[in-house]
Amino acid sequence: MNHQPFEEWLLNNTTITREQKRELDAHVRTCAYCAALMKTDKVLRDLRLAAPASGFLSRFEARLAARKAEERKRKLFGLIFFALAGSALLIWAASPYFAGFFASPAGWISALVEWGMFLLTTLIASVQAGAVILDVLTRLLPPFAWLVLVSGAAGVSLFWSISIWRFSQRGVPQGV
Ligand SMILES: [Zn+2]
Repeated sequence: MNHQPFEEWLLNNTTITREQKRELDAHVRTCAYCAALMKTDKVLRDLRLAAPASGFLSRFEARLAARKAEERKRKLFGLIFFALAGSALLIWAASPYFAGFFASPAGWISALVEWGMFLLTTLIASVQAGAVILDVLTRLLPPFAWLVLVSGAAGVSLFWSISIWRFSQRGVPQGV
């Protein structure tokens, strides 16, 4: 079977007249090869039509990524802004001290070192004191409990002896 010029038209995507189209359709109806070619061409054309859609998708994805990056950047800038503002506020609040510091750095450094030492020693002392108190408390608690028990028993026995004494006194006639 002679496929020309139909094969040529189909392969080169030649723009054909209505008359040529009618000839092509007639040939395709009897030629499986050209029908397959036509079908392939149609599929390819559909894919080409779908291509912009995928392009749109990639553009959309790119835009989404860009927006995410922008959001991240905005958050980062916000964080930096707050950090800077906080630092500025802190510096402003501490500026008198800074001024004093820069007026006599040596004095301030020694004062700072002294304060640091004081803080450190106080901290250590309080920790030690706390440890000692805890230690003493844990060691003292059983004797303390014993003390309570003993004094309680002593109180009870004292009360008991007084009661007995008073009872014996009552038993003895008055004025003897
Ligand atoms: Zn053919």
